[in-house]
Amino acid sequence: MFFPDPAQAPAERLAPQGFRALFRHWLLIAIRRRGVVPLELENVRHTVILTPARPPRPHLRSRRNSRRVAAVRAERRAGVVSVLCRWAGVACCAVDAGERIQELADQVVALRDAYYRGSPKVADAEYDGVEDELRGLIEANPELAPDPNPLEQVGSPVVLHAPVRHSRPMLSLEKATKSEQVVAFFDRFPGQSVVVMPKLDGLSLAVVYEDGRLARAVTRGDGTTGDDVTPLVRALTGGIPERLDAPGRVEVRGEVVMLRSTFAAYNAAHPDKPLINPRNAAAGTLRAKDPATVAERRLQFLAFDLHTDPDSAESDLDGALRTLGFTAADMRHCDGAEAAQEVISEIERRRNDLDYDLDGAVLRLADRDAYAAAGTRSSSPRGALAFKFAAEEKTTVLSDVVWDVGKTGKIAPVAWLEPVFVGGTTVTRATLANQEVIRARGIRIGDTVLVRRAGDVIPFVAGVLDAAKRTGAETEIVPPATCPSCAQPLTEQGNSRELFCTNVSCPAQTVRRLIHWASRAAADIDAVGGVWIERLAEAGILEHPSDFYRLDRERLLEFDRIGEVSATRMIDSIDASRGVGLRRALIGLAIPMASDGTAARLCRAGFGSLEEVADAGEEALVAVEDIGPKVAASLIEHLTRLRPELERLRERGVSLDVREEDLPPVVAAGAPLAGKTVVVTGAISDPRSGEKVPRPTFQRLCEKAGATIASSVSASTDLLVTGADVGASKLTKAEKHGVEVVDQGEIWQQLIDANVV
Ligand SMILES: [Zn+2]
Repeated sequence: MFFPDPAQAPAERLAPQGFRALFRHWLLIAIRRRGVVPLELENVRHTVILTPARPPRPHLRSRRNSRRVAAVRAERRAGVVSVLCRWAGVACCAVDAGERIQELADQVVALRDAYYRGSPKVADAEYDGVEDELRGLIEANPELAPDPNPLEQVGSPVVLHAPVRHSRPMLSLEKATKSEQVVAFFDRFPGQSVVVMPKLDGLSLAVVYEDGRLARAVTRGDGTTGDDVTPLVRALTGGIPERLDAPGRVEVRGEVVMLRSTFAAYNAAHPDKPLINPRNAAAGTLRAKDPATVAERRLQFLAFDLHTDPDSAESDLDGALRTLGFTAADMRHCDGAEAAQEVISEIERRRNDLDYDLDGAVLRLADRDAYAAAGTRSSSPRGALAFKFAAEEKTTVLSDVVWDVGKTGKIAPVAWLEPVFVGGTTVTRATLANQEVIRARGIRIGDTVLVRRAGDVIPFVAGVLDAAKRTGAETEIVPPATCPSCAQPLTEQGNSRELFCTNVSCPAQTVRRLIHWASRAAADIDAVGGVWIERLAEAGILEHPSDFYRLDRERLLEFDRIGEVSATRMIDSIDASRGVGLRRALIGLAIPMASDGTAARLCRAGFGSLEEVADAGEEALVAVEDIGPKVAASLIEHLTRLRPELERLRERGVSLDVREEDLPPVVAAGAPLAGKTVVVTGAISDPRSGEKVPRPTFQRLCEKAGATIASSVSASTDLLVTGADVGASKLTKAEKHGVEVVDQGEIWQQLIDANVV
């Protein structure tokens, strides 16, 4: 270094003003043009690099002289630059390039050493800055390259979480949401085969093999530098072989996920410390300091990219990965945009049946050479496209928690959220389950939380996004001591400490029970909505389900905003519900522990009416399949209590008798499926008309043909009947258990032949 650090110059002398500011600007540009590497632009410190720029004059051309002259010139120039800099308010320190290179090289060695010992001294970006500056200087002055050059040293020892630079950047993919973008992608590569695969919602990982041995597994990191996670991956990740039958260097990239089944099993085993979602769980696992502490958190690797040097693998990506022994994400070859769009739609439909989270589909050139030849843009490869689905999980702010009284008196916490678009709809309310879940997930009002909504599932709050980002303004969620509706003290039940209001005349419960009676699964009084049920209950007109059947048009017309038309509609709808029958009436009465399935099984067991069930006694009830003593006791207790209500319903013309559709099927003579346990999957349609048939209807037809219907494939299943768009999981299971798989067409033919349909 030639000069003392001018950054110490008095501040007022550095203030940019008028001509001086202009000059300062020019100077900065000039300095940069001359190969100066600015360290902190505008923030005072710059490094001026001085190299012997021009050859010495002829008469001085002797080796010794030229060197000396160059040094003198450099020193002089540095002096001039330094004075100008000071005058213009640009602080600088001038350094000789050779010295600077050696300094940086020493720094790289020291920093790497610190990383490898597990105590990094600087952030990744800063380390990269040092490497970049060194690389730039060596490129400009190759003759000054240090020996040994730390940038050329590879194969450093594996140290958990040490930063490792990727051999080529791990780029993100160009995003698409519209089918036109898929068409445009195919237009870009006419005649090329494209694979479409699920876009897993996990963490990208690069796995490097050297001469057939697993050398290193590195996370994506910032795309340039990732974390060395080799020991964790070796111990915890499925799908990464220790050895490959391939020479040289092989790099396989893919996605690490925690399978949904692993995630669910872990949370069932650790209810006090649940994982927030599979992705966070996988990320947390790869951040662990010791594999032993996260042994139950198994991960799975699914490959999607391959580079070999020398190139010995086949050119088809899917085939090459499989030959090497990797599990690839389910890749489907498509020759056109239309076919690809179909596969994309199918992946989206199946997304909830799969054992991993996914957030879209990836299109990629199937041929590895074509993919490589397509090259990259600044931050994404040209040969691939990510088609994004609507997110099933988003973050939002939990603005409040309201304790809601349910139809059975259960007081459940409901999260009020800042509106968030998730799972294809705007969500403002979500369930928080119970106070134990709130406690285990450590949720507070004001937290930024993760909200999940998949398929038809009620949105729920999965957990707090990052508890470290709390401001201190968050408040504890306090469960109520008394019922929010009737102010009676609450009781706690079960391990999850669910709260109950046991007051049978609790107004909130009354309304909930009435709404439940009118719901689709029960009496299905669709013309009288929840708001009106609440008003009618407030007015004292509705208290029990039987009160619906006392209503008339005149009574309804007394209310503002109920006109002739809606009054008639309401009464017609109530009338139509009089045929509700045993099964749906039992569902409508919302008896604790008695599920929809309980109601169906009672019908099949031969009970003719709700009164028969009420009179049956425990012994007769527990004789019914899947009804235990607890359910039987609850049925007896509540039906005894409801006896007067059953009488009122009967008096007002409501049928509580079993309906034909709920009776056990009469097995037809020569039943083709007699004695067979059958699982039905996929979309079912009648081959004669092509019309869609609801699965329960088809299942009932199978039962008429003698089958026993099961919901999932197991060793005791005889047949898996497949409709359209069948999920892979059921097929895999069927294969595992050796279950015969039959297309729906064949079964339809048997049903037609046996006169079942
Ligand atoms: Zn209450």
